Amino acid sequence: MRSVAIIAPENTEEHRKGSNFIVIIIHFMIWENFYGNFRLIGMRYFLLAFLLFLLFYIIFRNKWLYKKIQPRFPKNKDYIREILYSVATMMIFAFVSAIVFSHPLVRPHTTLYKNITEFGWVYYFVAFPLMLVIHDTYFYFCHRLMHHKKIFNYVHLVHHQSTNPSPWAAYAFHPLEAFIEIGILIVFAFSIPIHKTHLLIFFFFMIVYNVYGHLGYELYPKGFGKHWFGRWINTSVNHNQHHQYFKGNYGLYFLFWDRILGTIREDYEERFDEVKKRTIPLK
Ligand SMILES: [Zn+2]
Ligand SMILES: [Zn+2]
Repeated sequence: MRSVAIIAPENTEEHRKGSNFIVIIIHFMIWENFYGNFRLIGMRYFLLAFLLFLLFYIIFRNKWLYKKIQPRFPKNKDYIREILYSVATMMIFAFVSAIVFSHPLVRPHTTLYKNITEFGWVYYFVAFPLMLVIHDTYFYFCHRLMHHKKIFNYVHLVHHQSTNPSPWAAYAFHPLEAFIEIGILIVFAFSIPIHKTHLLIFFFFMIVYNVYGHLGYELYPKGFGKHWFGRWINTSVNHNQHHQYFKGNYGLYFLFWDRILGTIREDYEERFDEVKKRTIPLK
């Protein structure tokens, strides 16, 4: 009888190809760039989230509780989960940006440019709102896709474990979602002309807005939700509702797509006014 060779799963062609790919990537990576990016992304996240956490969740915890969108606080284990996932996300962000914008084999093929005068100052400033619109659109459609019932549990559930998010939740993504989120960097790298300072300023703004969106407190003034301008701007109340109810309010910076495609929650404006109307500290 002929003996049948049993091929262990780790010896299959696919597995070999997969591990070769990982080995190539590891050799390919310039780790100095990775550490540099990780330091920058990490510093921004920890400084911002820590400052706001200190203010809203520790120093004025009781005094400002009546203003909290959901008037209760997450548990310590929630903060720890949010921070651990955020650290993993930041490693993925640092890894992808080190390849796309720093690696000598990739960088020359991107739209990154050196001197601001190459495209002029008008373009330089116009690029910021353009980046906001592109990122908001990218985020909205990826986000809606991640809410598809066949994908949600594998990719987006981690972020929704924070039903009452804290500033630490800003980057609390499953690693698969982290790769999707940093896809915006690849979109920028191969579409519009990008200067290094565009990236620095834009991604700083992104984390500020992201931490605000998960703050648990509303910073925009009374009436902003119904205001002719405010109607189009995403708010902390809006994103907090998304975390609380899982349905509706998918935008990032703006509410254009939510309003155009009818995914804004019907109770959003009412909820915004209710949060901003509170004057008596809750008992
Ligand atoms: Zn979501
Ligand atoms: Zn969120």
